Amino acid sequence: MSDFDYDLFVIGGGSGGVRAARVAAGEYGAKVALAEEDRYGGTCVIRGCVPKKLMVFASGYAELVNEAQCFGWDIKPGTFDWHAFKTRLNTELDRLEGVYRKLLANSDVDTYDQRATIKDAHTVQLANGETRTAKHILLATGGRPVRPDVPNAQLGIVSDDIFHLESLPKSILIVGGGYIGCEFACILNGLGVEVTMYNRAAQILRGFDDEARGLIAESMTNAGVDIHCGTSIVEMALESEHEAGTMPSNSDAAMGATAEQSNELNNCDARAGTQGPIWVKASNGAEKVFDMVLFATGRAPNTDGMGLEEVGVSLGRRQEVEVDEYSQSGVPSIYAIGDVTDRVNLTPVAIREGMAFVQTVFGGNPTPVDHDLIPSAVFTQPEFGTVGLTEEQAAEQEPVEIYSASFRPMQTAFAEKNKRVMMKLIVSKETRVVLGCHIVAPNAGELIQLVGIAVKAGLTKEQFDATCAVHPTMSEELVTMRSPTRTA
Ligand code: NDP
Repeated sequence: MSDFDYDLFVIGGGSGGVRAARVAAGEYGAKVALAEEDRYGGTCVIRGCVPKKLMVFASGYAELVNEAQCFGWDIKPGTFDWHAFKTRLNTELDRLEGVYRKLLANSDVDTYDQRATIKDAHTVQLANGETRTAKHILLATGGRPVRPDVPNAQLGIVSDDIFHLESLPKSILIVGGGYIGCEFACILNGLGVEVTMYNRAAQILRGFDDEARGLIAESMTNAGVDIHCGTSIVEMALESEHEAGTMPSNSDAAMGATAEQSNELNNCDARAGTQGPIWVKASNGAEKVFDMVLFATGRAPNTDGMGLEEVGVSLGRRQEVEVDEYSQSGVPSIYAIGDVTDRVNLTPVAIREGMAFVQTVFGGNPTPVDHDLIPSAVFTQPEFGTVGLTEEQAAEQEPVEIYSASFRPMQTAFAEKNKRVMMKLIVSKETRVVLGCHIVAPNAGELIQLVGIAVKAGLTKEQFDATCAVHPTMSEELVTMRSPTRTA
């Protein structure tokens, strides 16, 4: 009989933690517990991928109605009812949370609906004062949005808050042009909000293929998003208080907390987003007023106050848990998966890390996590699907051929819309292997999932070309681009 209460104690009930818990218990018969202080399902299900994607769908209908008219439909654009959508959204999230709870219960995982921290290498401290021991502890506590260090930053909302808004603003400033900033810029623009974006770098979506970034920025601008690159926010205040000259330059400071500390409070400023128009000063000196400001300026791992460093778990520069290829921390009984490790912060990756952990610890089969050639999508409009090296990364590595086609697709061209899509392959000159694929097009997320199989399998350009085209489609370009657009 084990000396511990459990074989495994998982902290965090998001996608990664729940998968690891139920597989360890259900498939390997381990005695497992899981603690979650908020809602089961975590970032992806409750305040990330799932509600975001449903908002992406919601925001696409206005344009569809418009296009349908060009296809002969006698159909009129209506108005969007945020309240009606939000009610249905909440019902769906409740259903999904129920599914997660049921999966755990069906696998005989004990659940603790409260915060848990690490007391020692084998002991978990529960918020109710009790402790539980476990042979292994798995941290799957995820991450949270962070605000930049700007005076009065607490007046802005973060992505978690969007799904709880009482009503949509008439205008919004989005600070940050990464995944979250670009996705919400397109969503809110599609729902009729006037969207302005401040992106501090010269182009949005840093780290992705330059040509794709350019086309997405152009498409967003054409759709009505007012993007200002090379611009950041330097100061903000309630318009009423700015006009009256009454707002302290940092009202957090007036309340006895710094902007950083308010992040520690999980960004839960009760006034955020509800307090009236906000005056903003930009780095280029421009002063403007917006109904709302959304900070999409990155996320930080949830390691604060977890007792990690006290037991010898080392944290990196961004406060992420440092782990090896098996997700094991420097304390052998403590493992970590998902965004708390700040490796590749995507739900399917956290799930794979969870599965690899279970294989390693309970399956007797040490399984490193493969982080190479992970396909992903950014749900902008049009969508962006990407796998492998960008043109810039590939050109640094070796001589490459670039095959790139940018064109007006049949459906929207017929509707006389000036929308362009892009299909792009990066090919090694020496081995002919397709090193990267980048697609900017409607449903690019669906397309890149399939191309990802071929790229992961290491197929060559000639093997792509040996596949017969499906006509007429946008993606047939991926197997019909005969000569390189350029070499690099
Ligand atoms: P990102 O790191 O992608 O983008 C952050 C943006 O904010 C960048 O434009 C960055 O600029 C800018 N920024 C950072 N700090 C400041 C500052 N102090 N002042 C002004 N601008 C600033 O983070 P996100 O929050 O958008 O997304 C976090 C992660 O969540 C992603 O990396 C991704 O892993 C995941 N995610 C995935 C999605 C998907 O798969 N579809 C969707 C949403 C999130 P700069 O580029 O100059 O650093």
